[in-house]
Amino acid sequence: MSAHVFSQLPALQATVASDCRILQDPEDSAFQERLRRWTNIGRQTPTAIILPRTEEDCLETVRWALQHSIPLVPSSGGHSAWSTIGEGGVIIDLSNYVDIRVDEEAKTATLVGGVLSKEVGLRLAEAGLFTALGNGNTVGAIPYFLGGGASITTSITGFGSDQIVSARVITARNGGELVEVTATEHPDLLWALRGAGQFFGLVTQLTIRAHPVSLLRKQQGLIWVGAFIFPLARTAEVTRVMKTLMADTQHATAGLMMIMAPPPTRTPSLVISARYTGDEDPHVPFGPLYDLQPVVATGNEVPVQNASDAREILCAKGDFKQFGVVGLHGFDADAFVRTVDIWTKMVTECPDAINTAFNFQWDARPPRAPEADSASSLHDIRYWQNNLIWHTDSANRDKVDRYNEACISVMRGPDEMRFVDFQNGTRTGPIERRYRGTARLAKLRRLKREWDPQGVFTTQLLD
Ligand SMILES: Cc1cc2nc3c(=O)[nH]c(=O)nc-3n(C[C@H](O)[C@H](O)[C@H](O)COP(=O)(O)OP(=O)(O)OC[C@H]3O[C@@H](n4cnc5c(N)ncnc54)[C@H](O)[C@@H]3O)c2cc1C
Repeated sequence: MSAHVFSQLPALQATVASDCRILQDPEDSAFQERLRRWTNIGRQTPTAIILPRTEEDCLETVRWALQHSIPLVPSSGGHSAWSTIGEGGVIIDLSNYVDIRVDEEAKTATLVGGVLSKEVGLRLAEAGLFTALGNGNTVGAIPYFLGGGASITTSITGFGSDQIVSARVITARNGGELVEVTATEHPDLLWALRGAGQFFGLVTQLTIRAHPVSLLRKQQGLIWVGAFIFPLARTAEVTRVMKTLMADTQHATAGLMMIMAPPPTRTPSLVISARYTGDEDPHVPFGPLYDLQPVVATGNEVPVQNASDAREILCAKGDFKQFGVVGLHGFDADAFVRTVDIWTKMVTECPDAINTAFNFQWDARPPRAPEADSASSLHDIRYWQNNLIWHTDSANRDKVDRYNEACISVMRGPDEMRFVDFQNGTRTGPIERRYRGTARLAKLRRLKREWDPQGVFTTQLLD
């Protein structure tokens, strides 16, 4: 299989620019470095890693792969479990092809290639703007937006995919074709890119909407970020208070309620990592939590572009990691209390899973309504179970997964018809849970058959 790729690489080298690197020695340190991923789950070794510098390089590479029937996968930030491929295949690694162009007047930004989320936030802030970014500074921005994009500002901006204005996409049509996608050119494909965009081609450029920072705290682009820590034994008492606080739409609070053992002491705790975009003193929205006298209560105002800096450690590459993330229609406090036991059993049986956190995520306000219909079906969701699974011993892979599944199952409850999955977090389970509604899914399947019937950009929506 590799021999086929090796025999065709000179043809690729002849068409791409001279600074487009092609790595083909797995022992080479540059190859090893590019192979590092956020998670080692499912990590494979390709025959070659191609590092385009330009859109033309990307196009030539896709054309070459299609012409010679070589499987490919694009990679941007490497923070998913999916940008990996085995022997006989190639990774198109976009991290050497990066740019951001901000149009202050139009309030848009054009993201290019493998640009990372933090860079987008920083560049927009320079122009007094922000957009619907998520929790991971080093997450690839384009895949984040394409896959729905659950943001820290969803109630103000809508989801990441709601921000998409237009795109340039290399599709599998006609042996590899660069397509301009706008509201008037290929509008159906634009609809699909807004939530299912990782399955239709390699997106070289994505133009997204931005918003003035005056929409945030004190009209200064600030977010209040704080943490409240309680002993795990107080979970029942705290969750009762949180149930009311999380449902209080008067205050723009959001955050995560986490069952975890934070370093350095590793004392099992209930950690509430909270955010607030409103103008009042945080003691107003979070008063009931302060009243409970947490062991630790911290907080300060940070510029929105730095709001995820404290979570940078979660972006580290290596180990066995994944998100167990599902959308929920409400908060069941008793169920959450039951997950404490599951977490405790997990870390007792699998001490290597001590970094794992079972998290309930809330946004007190509903997502901002989108201006256009799209492939994404998340707009009725403001609660999530968002577990961060993180362990190191390969012998415990299945066990840790089973504990995660047990937690998710308790939090979801019995009503299977209402299950919601998040496309940026999972590709397993029935696709009907990620793209809800018969008409939406039928349209997506039709578009997939139209644009990528051979499944060059995954077989999702084909099977
Ligand atoms: C620490 C952390 C925090 C996160 N926080 C959030 C969050 O707050 N909200 C949220 O919605 N998600 C979040 N995610 C999930 C993340 O948005 C998705 O996993 C995203 O797809 C990762 O993009 P990537 O470029 O880093 O990963 P990659 O693994 O490089 O790419 C992800 C997928 O997109 C494909 N792809 C890559 N580049 C392109 C391209 N240019 N065109 C088309 N397809 C492409 C890849 O083949 C792969 O299937 C988080 C993930 C991590 C690890």
